[in-house]
Parts: sequence; structure tokens; C-alpha cells
Amino acid sequence: MDIYSQAVQPILVPSPDNAVSPPIFQTAVYAFRDINEVDEVLSGQRPGYSYTRGGNPNTEALGQFVANLEGAEAGLVTSSGTAALLAGIMTLLPHPGCILVAREIYGGTVGLVRDILGPMGYRLQWVDTHNPETVRDALGQGAGLLIMESISNPLGRVCDLEHLITIAHEHHVPVMIDNTFATPFHATPLQWAADLVVHSLTKFIGGHSDLILGVVVGAQDTIQRASHIVDAAGFTPDPFASWLCLRGARTLALRMRQASTNALELAQALEQAQGVRRVYYSGLPSHPDHEVATRLLQRGFGSIVSISVDGGYEGVQTMIRHLDRVRLVPSLGDVATTISHPVVASHRELTSEEKEIVGIDESIVRISVGIESSSDIIDDFVQALSHSL
Ligand SMILES: *Cc1c(COP(=O)(O)O)cnc(C)c1O
Repeated sequence: MDIYSQAVQPILVPSPDNAVSPPIFQTAVYAFRDINEVDEVLSGQRPGYSYTRGGNPNTEALGQFVANLEGAEAGLVTSSGTAALLAGIMTLLPHPGCILVAREIYGGTVGLVRDILGPMGYRLQWVDTHNPETVRDALGQGAGLLIMESISNPLGRVCDLEHLITIAHEHHVPVMIDNTFATPFHATPLQWAADLVVHSLTKFIGGHSDLILGVVVGAQDTIQRASHIVDAAGFTPDPFASWLCLRGARTLALRMRQASTNALELAQALEQAQGVRRVYYSGLPSHPDHEVATRLLQRGFGSIVSISVDGGYEGVQTMIRHLDRVRLVPSLGDVATTISHPVVASHRELTSEEKEIVGIDESIVRISVGIESSSDIIDDFVQALSHSL
């Protein structure tokens, strides 16, 4: 056999059942014995995989893992959180319609609905989810879907999801919850009868800023429909990213416990610190949603703390330049504490009017609190803020 033939010989990797860490099925496709077998697998008569766009063991293991944490029947991993949002929308509202969106939702969700789905005939309508009567009115005017977050970005707003989902269902409108900020450690919205829960796994569940993935979880038949969309549209994740995410996710509870404890301590310290105009954290009695958050969230209030810095844009610049340990990173959910500037990063797609509706301006900094010692995090912010005076 010459090199041309030799080079294409299959390399068989043994995958014994007792491997403690699962093997990575980094393959695009599978080989079959005969065409009957292809037919049986593709028709679902025989279990198995054929082409990774339609399914992969690492990806399915991760989907099942998140589904278990969320108390869901099934989970489906996607190439990004954004792909999960789009697959979720197309599953629950396959024909163009009106999408009600909570006022303080993630900027990327707004961009997706407005810029990508808008020209296809979908319509975005803001609703004030802190005012259930206005939501009821909007639901009664032919809405097709309601999208909310369990903890909003960046101001940590928490609305009464349980009540709002009940109202939506009275109007036969399905509800999709983005649970990225809370993670199943703090909230499991399916228990309030949400129709779908989505995550950006890129953030806390992955937890190490080394991958981009998303997931949708829900009832078996809903996820089945989502799975057709993900396969047909090519929103499929890479097996290695799924493997890596599952590796990180195994420490989720420990990370979230430490990070949310740190976040509360940091929020309390920053309320007293010089150079801070206002602290947004639902674990503080000063937060407008403290009561709702105490009732709905479990094991703490999450690990995102936002602050409004004295001196606006300049004050923010000065503080950021003086931080020693905390890095400016336009994402969140890492094991290390990071900060981001929503107006410039996550919410840049919003018009100035929309920013006003969401309630953010250039003085706001979002802190993703990590698992360091809280005193180190607090000290760094206090010293950095002292320069902005
Ligand atoms: C980051 C994020 C997304 C988008 O996820 P990607 O993995 O970046 O596509 C969606 N929702 C929220 C709340 C996020 O923070």
C-alpha cells in the first residue's frame, strides 16, 4: 500500500466503556456496513449517528446535562447562544408574528429580532414586564411569543416570571426565557411553565471563556421541532466545544456559589464606596426587584453587579485604566472577575431611545464577579474608583 492509500486508512480509536472522561467524537460523519443500515439509521428505526450536523454523542451528552439541571425532558445544544435564541423563536413562532420582548433584554436578542427577523415580517414590541397589566394588554393584541430573561442584562432586573407566564398562557402565547444570567443554580424557569429555556453556554455554564455555544431545553416534542431547525439551518455545534463545555459545567454549582457570594459582598462594598453613583444588584434591599428576586431566585442573586460611576464616560475610563486585576472583557461568566461597558459592547445595537428604555447610559459598568477571594476583588475596585474622583 503506498502513501496515497495508506494515508486514508481509518484510524480506529478504541473507546472503552470505562473511560472516566468521555472520548471526543470529533467526526463529521459515520461509516456504514451497507445501505440498509444507512436507511435504518436515517429513518430512526435503528439508533445511531450518521452526520454530525444532525447529532453527535458529545453534543447530546451536554444537552442532556443541562436538561437535567433545568428539570427539562430534553436539551439541544447549538453553535451559540444566539443560534439557540433563533432556533427557539423559530420553534415557538414559525410564521412571522409579533414578538413581545421585555424592556431590558440582551442587546443581541433585540438585534436578532429587529434586524434579522424584522425583514422577514416579524415585529418586535417592547413590553414593561414590571407592569403585568400592560403585558396583558399587549398579549391580547395578537402577540405570538413573549421573550424574557430570568435576570436581566445589565441592570439585574427580575420580574415575576411565574405570574407573567401564567398571563401569557391565558392568551395562548408561548414564553421563552433566556436563563443565561441565573443559570439553573439560581432559577429553573420550566418550573413556572416556560415553554422553552435558552442559554448562552459561552457564559457561566461553560465558565472559562474558551468556547461559544448555546442550548435550548424544554419538552421532548418542542426540542424535537427545534432539532429539525438546528439540523436544517446548520446551527450545529462542534463536538470538541461540547466536550469542553461539559468539562467546565461540572463545576458550575461550586463556581456559582462562590461567585454569587462574592457578588453580594462586592455590591455591599460598592454601595459604600466613593465614586459610585448607584449599584444595581437584586440581592441589595435598595434594588427595585429585591422582593421579587428573593421570592423567585434560589441560592443567591447571581454574579452580575452593575454600577453607575461618577463622572460618566470619563469616570468609567479612569476606573478601568486603574484596575489591576480585573480586565475589561466584553463578555461574562468567566472564573475571573471581568468588567464590560454595555453601551459600547453588549447593548451597542440599541438606538439611543432603546438605551433609554432599557435604562442604561455611558456611566454604567457591568461586573461579572468571579471566584477569587472577595477582598481582592473589592480592593481592586475601591482603589481604581479612588482615581476617578
Ligand atoms: C451572550 C448572551 C447571549 C448570546 O450568546 P452567544 O453565545 O454569544 O451567541 C444571549 N443571551 C444573553 C443573556 C447573553 O449574555
